[in-house]
Amino acid sequence: MPDPLRLLILGAHPDDAEYHAGGLATIYRRLGHAVKMVSLTSGDAGHHEMRGPELADRRRREAAAAGAVIGAEYVTWDNADGFLQPTIELRLAVIGELRRFRPDLVLTHRPDDYHPDHRAVGNVVRDASYMVTVPAILPSEPILRRDPVVAYMPDRFTKPYPLQPDVVIDVTEHFETIVDMLACHESQFFEWLPFNRRAEGQVPRDPAVRRAWLRAWYANHLHSAAERWRPQLIETYGPQRGEQIEFAEAYEISEYAAPLDGEARTRLFSFLSG
Ligand SMILES: [Zn+2]
Repeated sequence: MPDPLRLLILGAHPDDAEYHAGGLATIYRRLGHAVKMVSLTSGDAGHHEMRGPELADRRRREAAAAGAVIGAEYVTWDNADGFLQPTIELRLAVIGELRRFRPDLVLTHRPDDYHPDHRAVGNVVRDASYMVTVPAILPSEPILRRDPVVAYMPDRFTKPYPLQPDVVIDVTEHFETIVDMLACHESQFFEWLPFNRRAEGQVPRDPAVRRAWLRAWYANHLHSAAERWRPQLIETYGPQRGEQIEFAEAYEISEYAAPLDGEARTRLFSFLSG
């Protein structure tokens, strides 16, 4: 058995990791790999009625519960939600995280995105990628001898260009697990996000009914991803399976970290060639 791989997901908010990459995280855990999810902010602005430390505590507990669904560690940092900037301090914190966790694969936001916190994370990870190998930078943490592969999580943005997937993944059989993870974020999927979409009146009160409501909403989201990347799914899985995939995730490899060469593709995405 080869050594387990190490997947680190760096998102801006508690829920970004599983919302964008819940399928890949689930696959990695089921293969016995280590998965750590980090929210670079505390999420303490993500609500219309709560805020500050009380909300940060609630979201830390929700994130831990979501990670526990798949047996992944999930931590939230103390940076203020909505105020994240790609500072040198944040870059050094990310370099330290990369050097201590030693990931084989890192997932993060693209540097262009609707949310300023997402943009800050994307920029900081890009800026940290090469620096993790430089001994003079943050000498207290031993360097990585090579960059991990860094991949951008799927999004729908088109400017300056739409995500160009290097890897597309069928996550259909892991869909219920992803919904279970999302449902842990009660403050988000049943309170704040419906309010923000002016749809708070639509949230069912009964827990089972409200999970079904969330499931339908997220099914629509992941199904449109499968439709969007249908040609790449057919290329990856062949026409018979590729045509029928219901839910998919797609990832673009950052050109500023390790390349996804043949060896790395086989190592990190072995389940695609099974
Ligand atoms: Zn977010």
